[in-house]
Amino acid sequence: MSTTATRTIRHRIGGEETSGSSSRTSVVWDPATGQPQAEVVLAEPADVDAAVGAAKAAFPAWSETSISRRAKIMFAFRNLLEAHTDELARIIASEHGKVVEDAKGEIMRGMEVAEFACGIPQLLKGEYSDQISSDVDSFSFRQPLGVCVGITPFNFPMMVPLWMHPLAIATGNTFVLKPSERDPSASNLVAELYAEAGLPDGVFNVVHGDKVAVDALLDHPDVAAISFVGSTPIAKYIHERGSANGKRVQALGGAKNHAIVLPDADLDFAADQLTAAGFGSAGQRCMAIAIAVAVGDAADPLVEKLRERAEAIKVGPGLDPTSEMGPVVTPEAKDRIIGYIATGQQAGATAVVDGRDLDVEGGGFFVGPTLFDNVGTEMEIYTDEIFGPVLGVIRVETLDDAIDLINSNSYANGTAIFTTNGSAARIFQRRIEVGMVGINVPIPVPMAFHTFGGWKSSLFGERGVHGPDGVKFYTRGKVVTARWPKDAAEQAVHLHFPTAN
Ligand code: NAD
Repeated sequence: MSTTATRTIRHRIGGEETSGSSSRTSVVWDPATGQPQAEVVLAEPADVDAAVGAAKAAFPAWSETSISRRAKIMFAFRNLLEAHTDELARIIASEHGKVVEDAKGEIMRGMEVAEFACGIPQLLKGEYSDQISSDVDSFSFRQPLGVCVGITPFNFPMMVPLWMHPLAIATGNTFVLKPSERDPSASNLVAELYAEAGLPDGVFNVVHGDKVAVDALLDHPDVAAISFVGSTPIAKYIHERGSANGKRVQALGGAKNHAIVLPDADLDFAADQLTAAGFGSAGQRCMAIAIAVAVGDAADPLVEKLRERAEAIKVGPGLDPTSEMGPVVTPEAKDRIIGYIATGQQAGATAVVDGRDLDVEGGGFFVGPTLFDNVGTEMEIYTDEIFGPVLGVIRVETLDDAIDLINSNSYANGTAIFTTNGSAARIFQRRIEVGMVGINVPIPVPMAFHTFGGWKSSLFGERGVHGPDGVKFYTRGKVVTARWPKDAAEQAVHLHFPTAN
């Protein structure tokens, strides 16, 4: 294997591309070939300081820029995203490994947040109460926080950052993005598109890096708020350290999403949907279905239908238009997933389809779709987030059993039910302790105008991303009580607590 990286991916700070003081780098793989394709510089605290400094310097002018001007720039940015979708999708496919059509899907879903942010004049409208007392009015409005930070995972290099920066910027903040070091290039193109859209230098900055950069952001006195999306242990860490430093923090963690299949469901439909949700993007989605909970008689036919579909998936390079599923992101990810498949078998689950058998030419990080039946809740393939193309089936007797099972899991990001029975669906939607719920919809990712966020160890902090929570997260409210008396002398002053008159 060659180790010669040909390209260096640098930070984007204050409108300039720079390596700053970084001397450390990390390899960026081409997961489809298993070869390094670039190196990305890893920020030192001085580089983080420079990025936060640029964002801090840009804040006074940007926060004073009229709301209609901010909306216009966001509108131009949204149009540039659309115009560059193909280019962005190919960048994602080449660094993440997912197939191009899937990459386009994440760009589209992210772009919808930019579209939502274009409505910021409407979203930020305050409230006004006339004459709350004699000659006194009261009104409330929301203002930006300052420098906001996004720390994002590898699995959606466009969509997850887009959950954050359009709303942060449209509400008048400046932003520093620390994307995943595994697929960093798309973020630099986003910085270029913002500049082309007319965003002033320093409003959107990108620092590449690892824990060193993240810790420097968490501790930086000029950072007001941190949005994080990634695995649960890191989310918990970010929430604790950022909060201890007095910052506003939202930290979205990992997932182990279950889908219940009731015996009355259309099993062909359910199997199609579960196959897409289990194996799309090689299972590397926070809203992937990892566990199918088959109730009663649904189990045998469901497993057979899932087997047929898993075996039919065409696995190949993400840039090959005939591929339906690409490789996983790194050699470490491949080893981890293969290790889990081995533990599943050792623990007694039935490997109906074993992805380790897959042979794809070219030496990429491929793992085939894997289907386990008879998964037990004590097995590591159940307790851990595998984050690969591994779908497990757990058999239970009743809907109540299925709901209790899901409610016992510490992850609570997304869940779904397949049924033709409205009453069962309603019981499920009300009793299930999970943040995002699908009814005959396997990946219920809320649209940009709703809020995305799980419960329990899938979200630390009280607010999810985008939608109404996103607007509130990036702003703080102010209430003004104003008196404009015609004649101040007419108004008597008392020492008692003020009441309306
Ligand atoms: P990760 O937690 O390894 O990394 C996320 C970010 O944290 C990256 O920018 C990374 O550089 C940084 N980081 C990693 N280790 C760190 C450390 N020790 N200290 C400080 N920072 C650190 O996650 P990942 O592997 O890139 O992404 C996959 C995970 O993200 C999965 O667990 C998935 O479920 C989760 N995810 C969750 C959602 C959601 O909405 N809840 C969405 C997408 C992904």
